[in-house]
Amino acid sequence: TEHVADVAVIGGGLAGLTAARRVHDSGVDVRVLEARDRVGGRTNSREIDGEVVDLGAQWIGPGQNHVKGLVSEFDLDTFEQYVAGEATFRADGEFFRDSDPFEALGLPTQLNLLVAIKLIDRYGEQIPLDAPWEAPKAEHWDATTVATWRDRVVRTSAGRDAFDSIVRALFCVEPAELSLLYFLFYIRAGGGFDRITSVRGGAQQTRITEGAQAISQALADELGDRVHLEAPVERIEHGDDAISVQADGISVSADYAIVAIPPALAGRIEYDPAMPAKRDALTQRMPMGAVIKCVATYEEPFWRDRGLSGEVVDADGPVGLVFDDSPKGGETGSLVGFLVGNSSREWADDPAGRRESVLESFVEYFGPRAGDPEAYEDMVWENEEYSRGCYGGLCGPGAVTGVAEALREPVGRIHWAGTETATRWCGYMDGAVRSGKRAADEVSERVGVRQADEGVTAGTVD
Ligand code: FAD
Repeated sequence: TEHVADVAVIGGGLAGLTAARRVHDSGVDVRVLEARDRVGGRTNSREIDGEVVDLGAQWIGPGQNHVKGLVSEFDLDTFEQYVAGEATFRADGEFFRDSDPFEALGLPTQLNLLVAIKLIDRYGEQIPLDAPWEAPKAEHWDATTVATWRDRVVRTSAGRDAFDSIVRALFCVEPAELSLLYFLFYIRAGGGFDRITSVRGGAQQTRITEGAQAISQALADELGDRVHLEAPVERIEHGDDAISVQADGISVSADYAIVAIPPALAGRIEYDPAMPAKRDALTQRMPMGAVIKCVATYEEPFWRDRGLSGEVVDADGPVGLVFDDSPKGGETGSLVGFLVGNSSREWADDPAGRRESVLESFVEYFGPRAGDPEAYEDMVWENEEYSRGCYGGLCGPGAVTGVAEALREPVGRIHWAGTETATRWCGYMDGAVRSGKRAADEVSERVGVRQADEGVTAGTVD
């Protein structure tokens, strides 16, 4: 079928739906084309063993005002991530347990890590978030991998283990894959090291009772039949006067398009005329991280009785990171584990072996009861045709200074959204929402309508 609209939005994740709703609210006719048979993209909430479980994004925290705005607007319920008790840390083959496991690592390691964290924040402050390639040391930092820098700053092997496992948990890649400049930018965009890594007062503070996908579902409900599911866009023809967006079985003729998918996926769309060199290079140089999210449910959160918070950072096992994932109230228990970076790639195609190995690790952390869950489910994000990895697209060495300028730069009538384009909370749901607002405002301005509401432009708001 053929549709005509003012604006075509490609991608029905948080960024695309936010953009669509915002242009729609300003009186502009919009259509959303979403490849999957559901909206929400990198959020995916399912019912497992009678409880809502997020197999994609799940936490929101302080400073994420744009995603929080939607949560309260749609009257979604929230609760705090459980962290009471001792956390577990494994490095160098040894378990450390403490309310702050880093204190258990010993003084030299602790000092090493403190220095590294101080430097990360101090360097981050020198980075202009809307143009990290203009940082005073941009060339140098972009020529350095996070692994090289870690070797320079962190001397003890437990410290390096700890550092690496934090990098993997945050980015879902190995430290050798990341540009130091990108790493510093990303942490700064999330308000600094403490804010981005913490539960209390940080990015892992709050969960959404209905599941994070409920936000996208509510946005899509508002947009109604303007959202087309199972419509993977294959080709965009863009001329001086109009755009034609062609998906499997449906096409939209529009004045403008907002492409709200990660660069790596945007690069799989065929453009006529072709993209400018820098934009095309960007789509080749922002690969996705790799993560498998695993959830096991139990009759009760038995680890809590043993004084354990459920939080684990593991530098040795296949599972890099674990949290208590029990539903609000904690009447039943569940644990969520993340296989990140190379571990995720290693286990991606072995579902049975993966389950066994994850549960073995849970037993190591929490005792034999953890080996016998009521239910177990996991999701391999790099095997998802329309994600190709998670949490997001990332820059290796040279990419920020070389091609990142093309991230938000419109090409003719095509504008770009998606969390990768955000200057605050890049990689997070909040960044996705901000990017959708920014792209909507860019297009609305060209269409000639003005935003009447809040008066904020996402690029500049905290
Ligand atoms: P997406 O959600 O990827 O949306 C893009 C949409 O476009 C998708 O629906 C996709 O199906 C569709 N699409 C792709 N190609 C095409 C095409 N050719 N044609 C049409 N449609 C197409 N963030 C947080 O804030 N907190 C967390 O706790 C958190 N944890 C995470 C855990 C995991 C396991 C994962 C995977 C992500 C997590 N994130 C978290 C990141 C968060 O999910 C993303 O930042 C955010 O959802 C991205 O939204 P988006 O709209 O930019 O992209």
